Amino acid sequence: MMVAIIGSGFAGLGMAIRLQAEGIDDYVILERGTDVGGTWRDNTYPGAACDIPSHLYSLSFAPKRDWTRVYSPQPEIWQYLRELVERFDLRDRIRFGADVVRCEWNEGDHLWHLTTADGTTLTADVVVNGIGFLRDPGIPSFPGQEEFAGPQLHTCRWDHEVDLTGKRVAVIGTGASAIQVVPAIADQVASLTVFQRTAPWVVPSRDRAYSQWERALYRRLPGLARANRTLTYLQKEVRYPLVFARHQLPVRIAERYVRTWLAQQVADPELRAAVTPDFGLGCKRVVISSDWYPTLQRDDVTLETTDIDRFTPSGVVLADGRQIDLDVVVYGTGFRANKPLGTMDVIGRDGTSLAQYWGPRPTAHLGVSVPGFPNMFTLLGPNTGLGHNSVVVMVETEIEYVMQALRILRDEPELAALDVTQQAHDDFVDEIDRRHRGQAWAAGCHSWYLNDEGDNFAVWPGSTVEYRRRLRRFDRKNYRHIRADRPDRALLGSQTA
Ligand code: NAP
Repeated sequence: MMVAIIGSGFAGLGMAIRLQAEGIDDYVILERGTDVGGTWRDNTYPGAACDIPSHLYSLSFAPKRDWTRVYSPQPEIWQYLRELVERFDLRDRIRFGADVVRCEWNEGDHLWHLTTADGTTLTADVVVNGIGFLRDPGIPSFPGQEEFAGPQLHTCRWDHEVDLTGKRVAVIGTGASAIQVVPAIADQVASLTVFQRTAPWVVPSRDRAYSQWERALYRRLPGLARANRTLTYLQKEVRYPLVFARHQLPVRIAERYVRTWLAQQVADPELRAAVTPDFGLGCKRVVISSDWYPTLQRDDVTLETTDIDRFTPSGVVLADGRQIDLDVVVYGTGFRANKPLGTMDVIGRDGTSLAQYWGPRPTAHLGVSVPGFPNMFTLLGPNTGLGHNSVVVMVETEIEYVMQALRILRDEPELAALDVTQQAHDDFVDEIDRRHRGQAWAAGCHSWYLNDEGDNFAVWPGSTVEYRRRLRRFDRKNYRHIRADRPDRALLGSQTA
């Protein structure tokens, strides 16, 4: 059984490590870049770091004990992922520069036929899609943008050749990325204009460096590192029922706490009003920073809340007619999250295109399986993102779910493929939609969690404890069993045909 894993970030590498541990050696990792690491390879902007503690934001079956900080910076997380390749001897399994542009299911041989951008083809029994949502930059268009004379950078495609020293720089956006890059470059640039469309909820960071003795203790006592991980997990998890399910009292207490901290941080009433969020906590992703408000109060930093009307060769003109002269523009404007396939063409049974099947709203049973796309499993797919805990927990849960499907396929040679039923998929999507109503992210804000129709396609509407429970056993009754010798029969029923 050949497994093609697309992507070599946390999901792809984690899948490969588990396959290897299970003795499933017939697999390949297809990576479009020249190195592993996914989002942690691509997001090299100054200040990039994870805002989930590293002992939790790492694979439990491939732990690192000597993280240098509570919230590790991007280079350390990327290095961790690169080291996994050597530690688990994965290098020979990775095909770099393999940008999968087409995946087509063939009913005749029950195989996925994959094509990469350079025309190479390969077949696989199973495709595990580990490409994630937050991959391709979302750059808004403004009139005159291409006429701007200076460099324009996106946070996830940082150009380190561009020297910001002494430059007049604009950062557009105030999400998790922008909020890290702004304090990181403030000392270097001549002036910084931050364009804020919506004031985010910001909470203080508890980041600190681990001391030598703490790191030595974690190295020598693996149980201590595991206890740290579990404790951190529980601390994060408790926020789901308290805050994100929007029980009135805990939400009000949390909002009051954050507003009080904000008032202590920002003395000027005008600036304070401008940075005070006008929507409920948790509706958009809460961002963590102790540097954000102090940076906005520097003399050489300006928070601009007037919209950009157009670009000129020397800067931007605002909606109220003011001109701001700029040397460099930085887009901290997020990702094209509702186009998770990017440019990949996925063709399932009966020639159905996954992009067309999804339309504006990606969906999948348990976030993993889409009907009509047999033996294709997505890691960190639709509605499996989190606002309250580590997505690595979700990825691991999905990997174990997929492992069970693979064991079934391996141990039952008469079974060619598993294809989730339309009913199971639709029931799951209905459930998700019902449960999202009244939750934090449905509190009336605009965020990347929602598509243009207002459907939440990104976030899991429950606790991770529940998600883990629901994926603990592969629910094979929700899958059509396509038999190797009688493919047509499989289309008749949801059980083995
Ligand atoms: P984001 O959360 O989507 O934020 C994009 C920002 O750009 C928002 O402030 C948005 O304003 C603004 N924006 C978008 N289009 C604009 C336009 N036309 N004009 C003005 N402003 C515009 O993107 P992100 O900050 O890259 O973060 C995306 C996700 O990546 C996060 O939610 C998180 O899951 C992950 N991430 C995590 C970390 C971490 O662990 N520390 C760091 C970075 C990213 P509006 O709010 O008004 O839409």
